[in-house]
Amino acid sequence: MKISNQTEELEQTLKALDTCPMRVLVPTMGCLHQGHIELIHRARQLAGQDGSVILSVFVNPTQFDKAEDLENYPRSLERDLSLCREHGVDIVYAPAPAAMYHQDHSITVSESALSSQLCGATRPGHFDGVCTVVLKLINLTQPAIAVFGKKDYQQLAVIRRMVRDLNVPVKIEGVDTIREKSGLALSSRNERLSPAQHADAARIRRALLAARKAHQQGEVSAQTLLGIARTEIEASEVGAVIDYLELLDSQTLQHIDRVNSAAVMATAVFYGKVRLIDNIELA
Ligand code: AMP
Repeated sequence: MKISNQTEELEQTLKALDTCPMRVLVPTMGCLHQGHIELIHRARQLAGQDGSVILSVFVNPTQFDKAEDLENYPRSLERDLSLCREHGVDIVYAPAPAAMYHQDHSITVSESALSSQLCGATRPGHFDGVCTVVLKLINLTQPAIAVFGKKDYQQLAVIRRMVRDLNVPVKIEGVDTIREKSGLALSSRNERLSPAQHADAARIRRALLAARKAHQQGEVSAQTLLGIARTEIEASEVGAVIDYLELLDSQTLQHIDRVNSAAVMATAVFYGKVRLIDNIELA
């Protein structure tokens, strides 16, 4: 496995792969868990044994709206590298911020429709940061395919839109959310939960499942479905605080009053300073 921290070094490594039939990129912020591992496995399936799986580890400063959240984001590069070795990653690109951004960088990719709700509404500038860094990573590594998790539903939609609108020559592959037995979506942020918060956070999934069940039984009112999910989350015994809980059209990511076509319920919930996200599709 090759490890690069500098752009030039990465370019040299990639040059050596010039004859490689298929490159697949897995962008991450590190602190890898089983969710990321599933992305690596999917990338390997897509790349084939002769292809290359490239994983980036970069805690991207431009997508954090709070300095404190950036500072507290968990980092574990040595452990990440050994997991990458164990799971057959070919190249890890783990640059420092200075290697990714010129001091006077002044170009940003901005998405203006799908980003207006959910994380885009509560984290100003977040998706500009995501789009910009993902485009940079794609340009640097020139993969045929880039793999993303559906846990970050809005991120996946925004990246698909960026690739479509800017004619980026890459295919985007989405992977289902990997969960703990309790239903809690795996996240690097789970490490920062206390044991009581960790146990309580399973209610996020229960809330979304309860809403989906009500919809399957015929309920279409957004207000009622959101109320069902809200009641479950607000029953938290350790003080979970809803950042947002919304029901959106799954194509446009705009609010709907009634579920008549494919929709997504998405939520972000604070446990103390730890913010967890999850979503569920209502067909
Ligand atoms: P992150 O390191 O949190 O930026 O995530 C890197 C990639 O892993 C993103 O495409 C995420 O959507 C994906 N991911 C994170 N958690 C999960 C999970 N529990 N299941 C599937 N994919 C995930």
